Amino acid sequence: MQIRIAGLVPESFVDGDGIRFAIFMQGCRRNCAGCQNPETHALDGGRLVDTNEIISAIKKNPLLDGITLTGGEPFLQVDAANELARATKNLGLNVWCYTGYTFEDLPPETSTLLENIDVLIDGEFILSLRDLDLQFRGSRNQRIIDIKKTREQNKIVLWSEIGG
Ligand code: SF4
Repeated sequence: MQIRIAGLVPESFVDGDGIRFAIFMQGCRRNCAGCQNPETHALDGGRLVDTNEIISAIKKNPLLDGITLTGGEPFLQVDAANELARATKNLGLNVWCYTGYTFEDLPPETSTLLENIDVLIDGEFILSLRDLDLQFRGSRNQRIIDIKKTREQNKIVLWSEIGG
């Protein structure tokens, strides 16, 4: 399957917990003031690659803890994102994902992807709530959500490093 990406960072230490293969997906309609990745906004920008190429690269690195789907808005390419997420889970690795949606506002058709995500950082970037001390996120409205526990407990459970 083809996926439109802005770029890949094969070993990232800043896009989630541990060592991560970060996939910067191309396309976002939000245009948040102060967005750090404006080059990822154009829906026809970036480049098309085959998801199998990315999965092969992930398989080659035994040091990875997981992948991070970021962007751009990963939920705009939900099928391709899900293919990467599912393959990653099959490798025994974890999946983190950024989105401009809040967890509560995710469109219903994204539920399959959500099943393959361990940690969701939700909400768009809000410049007036920017906080440089936050871990893995840019503004205070964004949450680092433990999706499995959230589903189990039927309420938002935040990810914590201990046991997270
Ligand atoms: S949702 Fe994310 S990528 Fe999109 S404009 Fe906002 S900060 Fe940028």
